[in-house]
Parts: sequence; C-alpha cells; structure tokens
Amino acid sequence: MVTTRRGATTSPVPEMSSNTSPKTASSSPPRTPPFLPTPLETLVAAAFPAILIFGTVFSLLSPQTRAAPYDPISQSHYQDPAVAPSYFARKSNVFNVFFVKRGWAWTTLAILSFLATHPAFGPAALSPRRLRAASRGALVTAWWFLVTQWCFGAPIIDRGFRWTGGKCELAQREVEMGDTSVGEMVTAVACKAAGGRWNGGHDISGHVFLLVLSTSFLLQEVGWEAIRWSGWRKEERSIIMPDGALKSAGVEAEMTPGEGAGKDALSLGGRVAVGIMGLSLWMLLMTAIYFHTWFEKLTGLLTATIGLYAVYYVPRFIHTSHHIMNRVKPPANLPALVKQTFAKARADNELHYFPTQVTTLTADSIPFQLRFSPALANKPKGPSSDPAKPSKPFDPFANPPAGLLVTDLAPSHFLVLNKFAVVPEHFILATKEYKLQTHVLEEDDLEATLACIKAYEDARGDPEDNDGLYAFFNCGEHSGASQPHRHIQLLPVARMRDGLGPESSWSVLAERLDAQKAPFATFAETISLEISSADLYAAYLRVYRRACRAMSAHMGAAETDEAPAKGESRISYNMAMTRSTIVVCPRVTEGANIVSTEGVALGSLALNGTLLAGTALVKNELEWEALKRDPEGLLRVLKAIGIPVQA
Ligand code: AMP
Repeated sequence: MVTTRRGATTSPVPEMSSNTSPKTASSSPPRTPPFLPTPLETLVAAAFPAILIFGTVFSLLSPQTRAAPYDPISQSHYQDPAVAPSYFARKSNVFNVFFVKRGWAWTTLAILSFLATHPAFGPAALSPRRLRAASRGALVTAWWFLVTQWCFGAPIIDRGFRWTGGKCELAQREVEMGDTSVGEMVTAVACKAAGGRWNGGHDISGHVFLLVLSTSFLLQEVGWEAIRWSGWRKEERSIIMPDGALKSAGVEAEMTPGEGAGKDALSLGGRVAVGIMGLSLWMLLMTAIYFHTWFEKLTGLLTATIGLYAVYYVPRFIHTSHHIMNRVKPPANLPALVKQTFAKARADNELHYFPTQVTTLTADSIPFQLRFSPALANKPKGPSSDPAKPSKPFDPFANPPAGLLVTDLAPSHFLVLNKFAVVPEHFILATKEYKLQTHVLEEDDLEATLACIKAYEDARGDPEDNDGLYAFFNCGEHSGASQPHRHIQLLPVARMRDGLGPESSWSVLAERLDAQKAPFATFAETISLEISSADLYAAYLRVYRRACRAMSAHMGAAETDEAPAKGESRISYNMAMTRSTIVVCPRVTEGANIVSTEGVALGSLALNGTLLAGTALVKNELEWEALKRDPEGLLRVLKAIGIPVQA
C-alpha cells in the first residue's frame, strides 16, 4: 500500500493516485508573456550581470588586484606567480586548464548524463521529450561552435575582433625575417601560434560567453525538468499559437506536473549538471575579477544571451505547431436546440425513450444514483442475422436520419440524438469519417467535446435548468461500448438529475473526485473552459498513459514503453469530461455479479462511462430491489469493474 499526495491510502500501484487531480499547467500558474523570461528565469538570469558587476567592482576596490600589473593586450595580469594577484588570475590555474578550456565537453557530459538518467524522459531511449531536449542541446552547441570555433571561416569572436580594428601584430622575429603574412591571420589561435600578438580590436570575453551559455543551457534543461517532475513550483513558460492564443509550454511535456513528487528531483545526471554549473559560476566570478574589460565581459554576456534567446524564447512565440485552436463552433443555442430536437424526435417516434425510476444509494460514502427502466427490457434488438448471409454490421452513425440529427459540427464531427435514450436529451458526438472507437482519441475529438461543454456553459440558464454537460467515452471491450464507429456521448446534467428530488446528495462524481474517493482507480486532471485544444489533448494523453501504466502494474506486467498516442488503445477505459475535469478510469471488466452478503448471485450490473458520473442502470426489478436493500452489493461491483482502490 502506498500513500497518495493527498495522504490517502491507495492500492499497491505506486502511481495510482486515485482521485487526485493534479492541476494542469494551463489552468493554474500565472503566465508571463512568451517573449519575456518568467519571474524565476529573470531571477536566475540576473545572477550573471550581478556576478560580473561584483567582480569588476571587486577588482577596482581590491588593493591586491589594483597593485598587480595588468597587460591590456592579453587582457590579464602578468602571469608570473610572484606578481599575479591570485592563483585564479593565472591562466595556468588548474580550473582554467581542465575545466573552462574544455568547458563545452563538460557541458555535453552534463546534459547527456542528465538525459540518460532522469526518469522524467520516460523509459524509451528515444522518447520525444529526450529528442527535443537533445535537439535544443545541439542548437546551443552550434551557437558555441559558431562563436568560438568556426563560423564559415574565423569564429564570430575573431571576426568581431578584426571588424573592430584588431589584427595580428608581427612579432619581432617575423619582422626581422621579412614575413608579413602573420598580420593577415584571421584567428587569435593562428596568430598566437605564429608568434604574433592579437591586438587592437574588441575581444568579446570567450570565458564569459562560454560560462554563461553553459550554465543557462543546463539550467533551462535541468531546471524546468526538475521543477515539473517534482511539482515544486507552479510556474510555466507560455508559448503563442499561430492564431495568437497563449498556451503553456507544458503541452510538450507528456508528464503530469509533480509526477515525481517525493522522488529524487535531479537524478545522477542532474547532480553532475549542478556540479558543473557551480564550478562555472565560480569561474565566471574569477573571470569577472581578473580578466578583460567590463565592456568585453558585457559583450560576452550579450553574445551568450543572443543564442539562448533564439533557442529558448523565440520558439515560444513563433511556434510552428500544427495544433489548431478552437475551430469548432457549436450553435450558441445548443442546449435549447438539443431539447427541441429531442422533443420533436420523440413526438415523431423517431427515438425510443425509456422512463426510469431512480434512487440514490451511498456506496462507500459516494452518493450513486441507480436507475431502473421497466420498459428497457423491450428495447428493440437489431435484425437477427442469418449466418448463411453475413451482412455488414449496421453503423448508426454512418447516415443518421434527419430527425435525429442535432447539428453539424464542422470540420470533422456531427451531433446526433441517442436513438435509445434513458436520460432525456442524451446526444452523441460522432466522427464524420469512419474512425475506430477502440483507437486513442485525437485532438479534434477532445476539442469538439469541449466545444459542446462550453456551449452549455455559455448558455447557462437557457433553458432555465441548463446545468452543464457531462461527456463520456467508452473504449474497449470492458468499457461498455457497443458501437465501433467513434463517438463521445453527451448528457445534460439537469436531465441526469431528473426524478432525484432536491434532497438527493448526488452530483457528477467526476467533479467530486478531489474530495471523494472512488473504490476504483481514476486518473484526473483539472481543466478549464479556456484550455487550448493542444493543452486538453496533452492532459488526456497524460491521464490515459497513467491509466495504462496502472493497468500494467495491476496485471503484474513489466512496465513497457509509453503507450502510443495513436492507434489501438492499450487498455479498456472510460473517459469523462466536464467543464472542470478530465478523468480516465481503466476497466478490467464490463460488469460483475450483484452478490448478496451471503454470497448468492442476484443478477449482474454492467457499467459504461456514466459510471464516472456516479450513475448505474439495472436491467430488472430483482436487481433493482437487491441493490436498494444492500448498497454494499453496488460497492462490490464497483470494486470489481476497475482497478480496486483500498480504503
Ligand atoms: P456505446 O454503447 O458506448 O458504443 O454507445 C452507443 C450509443 O449509441 C448507445 O447509447 C446507443 O443507445 C446509441 N445508439 C445505438 N443505435 C443508435 C442509432 N441508430 N442512432 C442513434 N444512437 C444509437
């Protein structure tokens, strides 16, 4: 047994934090404009100029440093140990030789060991998160290479030096020998190797550049990852979508904030990076005190900042994402339209409505509504098939009759009434193109679902009792699904309340999971109506993948690769969505026997995604009476259909 973040005790699956609702980055943290650093980034970035200013002021005030002779050409104090103001003022100091001079090799070692050892990148060696971090590393490395090593010829630092009037001054020996080629040397390295003096230009501090670039790069990669993993701070970068909408950078992170709470935030690689950053900051201070002019240190800082801004900030506002934002626009009067269409279809006998009796049971302190429809036993069955003449299965969503159609929902869905309604105004969001119910949902499915929920919220009070929409999705053989054409079902909450009476304590379970513990595992994230479709899709993938991992653990299977975002779902599950939450409940069986306390089977109960609303429908009176008599029987079923959560 393990303890969840809320302190509740749950089943043996370590991350099966049933009933917890980690907030998505998109809903809670304050956002900074994407072209500016976040408050934390500003604080961290301010450390660099602060160190440089401190070092420069120190060098001006320290009597020892002021007294030591300085060579403006080499931008350093005289190197003789007898006169150098400090061990660190000598270029031959061991940290300079083995650390700074090989700085980018250490940086590469730090990032590679972090990518290799931090669990946030997932079990797959080439996970998308790992690849994205590695490609940012490659870009920063390219900037380091262009500035200090080679830029289609001389590196940028040396080009800058020559553009500002610097050149390789001839050494006495070359002058005597009549060799003037040294003066044309275009790199400091070649000049010095040929015995010349690299003099007269603006010499951007390569040390400041390297140390700032390396530290900031490692901070961006290790820092954000550790923050998200540990859930330490609710700060998130934001990025601009092509249509101008602002979204959280957490979209890319297929990880729930705080997923690694209580675990090691850094890993071995993170510790290596922290060590290298610490050493870099110390060497930055030494550079600030003993080397270069303040202006050269400033240009070193600015050159590093240009590369960092290009790699870490520019993509936040010119995000070339394919994600499309909120294109789906249901009619503003959707609730009234559904009501009218339902009333007309019912009057025209286009649909079957099954009135129900209802009661509220309390299962493990959760108010659960139980319905029973005497007429449902007479629900028409499809034409019995003749095995000799196999016919194509009927697809109710291929060409629905006009009387059931609520509205088109461009570009890829439409809304149709459920032909067999137990809850009045039950309608269905189906894909225009034939897609499989058993596949992982796509961004546009979730976007269209949220658009319907939003339309109900926007039209609150019209009709008068409009109280929002409950959406659910049944996926897989144990989920209660029957139709293979992809569809998400929608129930007006006011209609689910029909017949309950004001004294009933029932409300949509999915929205109570923070406070109430379900007897089966659920994985939830908080959402808002303003969430972008990309953020919503990322939240769905996260809760779906957490459910997959929990199912693997429940089945005793070894943890495999992350469940793919496309194609056949790895598990059977129900998903529920409301204005404030998205929940996934992994399923192990569609139903279970209703068993008396004496162990006698009194019938069975099958459940679909309405389970996550806290509702169930029995088939006959015997079952109805049995559960009313013994609500514990319902609890036993609820524990059997999903991954049980111990109280
Ligand atoms: P599921 O059982 O989760 O696959 O959901 C299928 C839904 O489609 C059920 O709620 C059915 O009542 C409903 N349904 C079945 N046949 C039709 C039809 N011809 N037109 C509209 N809805 C239908």
